[in-house]
Amino acid sequence: MLSTLAAARPKKRLFLGLLLASEFFVALALYGAWRISYLGLENIFRYLPAIVGALLIFVSTFSFGAVCNMVLAIKGLPTLKLFHRYSFAIIKFLFPVAVRIGKIFGIRRRQLEGSFVAVSNLIFMKSGIKVPANRLLVLSPHCLQLSTCPHKITRDPNNCKRCGGCNVGDLMKLADEMGFTFFVATGGTLARQVVKKIRPQVVLAIACERDLMSGIQDVYPLPAVGVLNIRPNGPCNNTRVDMDEVRRVLSQIVI
Ligand code: SF4
Repeated sequence: MLSTLAAARPKKRLFLGLLLASEFFVALALYGAWRISYLGLENIFRYLPAIVGALLIFVSTFSFGAVCNMVLAIKGLPTLKLFHRYSFAIIKFLFPVAVRIGKIFGIRRRQLEGSFVAVSNLIFMKSGIKVPANRLLVLSPHCLQLSTCPHKITRDPNNCKRCGGCNVGDLMKLADEMGFTFFVATGGTLARQVVKKIRPQVVLAIACERDLMSGIQDVYPLPAVGVLNIRPNGPCNNTRVDMDEVRRVLSQIVI
C-alpha cells in the first residue's frame, strides 16, 4: 500500500539531510568565489569585500534557518512565519544541487521528490488544517482514467459513468457523498486554472512524485496535501490510487 502521509522516517530524513548537505555545499562554493574575487572587489571599492561577504553570510544563514524551520515544523515545534514564505523558493534553488549530491550516493531523483512530499504532508498535518468539504478541491491526473474509456472527463468529471473501470468513478462517488469538488487535470496549467477558478481552502492532489512536488510548490500559499498514485503499468498509463489512503487523508482534513 502506498502511503505518503505515513511515510517512513528515513524518507523525510533523506530530503532534509540532502537539503542541508546542499546548503553546506553552496555556502562553501560561495565562500570560494568570495575568496577568489576578494582582490578584484577590493580594487573596485575598499569595503566591497566586506559588504559582499556580509551579504553572502546573510543569505546562507537565512536559507539554513528556513531548512531548520522545516525541521521544527515536522517536530511540531513553534516555527517562524518569516521563513515559510521563502522555504519553497529555497527548495527550488537547492533541489538540483541535492539531486546531484544524492546521485553520488545512489539516491534517485524520484526518491528525493517522494521524500519532499512526505515532509510537506507531515508539515501540513501538523498544522492541523481542517476545512468543510465544500472548500476542498481534489485534483487527479488524467492518467487515472482507464485509457480505453470513451468518456471525456477532463472538462467535466460528471461525464464519468462510474462503471468501476478506474478510480475516477470511485472519486466521483466520494465527491458526491462528501461534497468536495473533484477535477481531473491534464497538466499543471489546467490544474492552476481550476484552483484559481474554484478558490478552495485546501487542495488534495493525487499524482506522481514529480508532479506533486511541483504542484504543492505552485499552489503555495494555498495548503496542499499529496497522495501518490500507483503505477502498475508504468508512468502515465492507467494509474491507480489507494482509495483507503484518500479516505484516510480526507478524514483528517474535512470537518
Ligand atoms: S469509472 Fe468513469 S472514467 Fe473510469 S472507465 Fe468508468 S466511466 Fe470511464
